[in-house]
Amino acid sequence: MAAGVASCGGSVAALLKLHAIFPCRASTVPASSLRRPDAAAVPGPQPSRLAPASLPSRPRRPRAASALRPPDAASGGFIAMFLYPELEWDFRLPWVKSINVSGHKYSLVYAGIGWCIWRNKEDLPEELIFHINYLGVDQPTFTLNFSKGSSQVIAQYYQLIRHGFEGYRNIMENCHENAMVLKEGLEKTGRFNIVSKDEGVPLVAFSLKDRSRHDEFEISDMLRRFGWIVPAYTMPPDAQHVTVLCIVIREEFSRTLAERLVLDIEKVMYQLDALPSKLMSPMLLAKTAAKRTELKTQRSVTDAWRKFVLANKTNGVC
Ligand SMILES: *Cc1c(COP(=O)(O)O)cnc(C)c1O
Repeated sequence: MAAGVASCGGSVAALLKLHAIFPCRASTVPASSLRRPDAAAVPGPQPSRLAPASLPSRPRRPRAASALRPPDAASGGFIAMFLYPELEWDFRLPWVKSINVSGHKYSLVYAGIGWCIWRNKEDLPEELIFHINYLGVDQPTFTLNFSKGSSQVIAQYYQLIRHGFEGYRNIMENCHENAMVLKEGLEKTGRFNIVSKDEGVPLVAFSLKDRSRHDEFEISDMLRRFGWIVPAYTMPPDAQHVTVLCIVIREEFSRTLAERLVLDIEKVMYQLDALPSKLMSPMLLAKTAAKRTELKTQRSVTDAWRKFVLANKTNGVC
């Protein structure tokens, strides 16, 4: 087995290598492709991560070696491995030659590390290996950049050894349970539609049932006052009209925090109810327009009187 470590950012060489590793990397994903059950999870902007496809999906048997699409296990690899062991997406499929994982997501290292594993040395494309003559000897390397501290690699090794398979499974199960606590809490408020599925990456995506007075962006804004950063975004093409709030549950997001978040969301909803609608309702608009014309009439009457009084004023004589 061959493995390489990637880091966020890096040199042009690193980008070229990245392109060679992920030839299918796309910048946007049309919502329609999210529904294709046979599509491998494709990296994209945040909304696409909502799709249950965040779990690496089973890659199709390729017709030609050039059509090989590696499963993108960035966020879902460490979930699928422990929570859905029966899901075949990995080296059990003979045509899967490499797997990439984000170290800073569910493999639990701080930000800035990802790694890629090849089934065997022959599957590692030769053009990814840089041969450098360093200190007089040939040094083959296929990491993504040369100068980088090893702390993250050590942290990754530490986590793997510290938790082991059992530990990671417990953590993932716990994340899933906390996601369900959050989901049920949100459902109980009666204000939201849950749009995420229970299985897959532990996350809860939800949208307002009634958007006539306020929208999800206002909820996101107000939650910041309670110290929560809950992103709201519109979905990719074909579903732009849908806005969702999304909460991804990680190891440190405990059950207590899930319960507190639900309470804070309830408080925000209560405060929003008391605020005038930002999205003016047609009735409110009509009322404001009526008030405006009323004011205008009053003003023109006052003006006319003022003119009349001024015109008839005779200076100095009572
Ligand atoms: C996060 C993510 C990526 C990007 O991985 P990083 O390690 O954060 O660069 C790619 N694909 C999917 C499906 C992801 O969830």
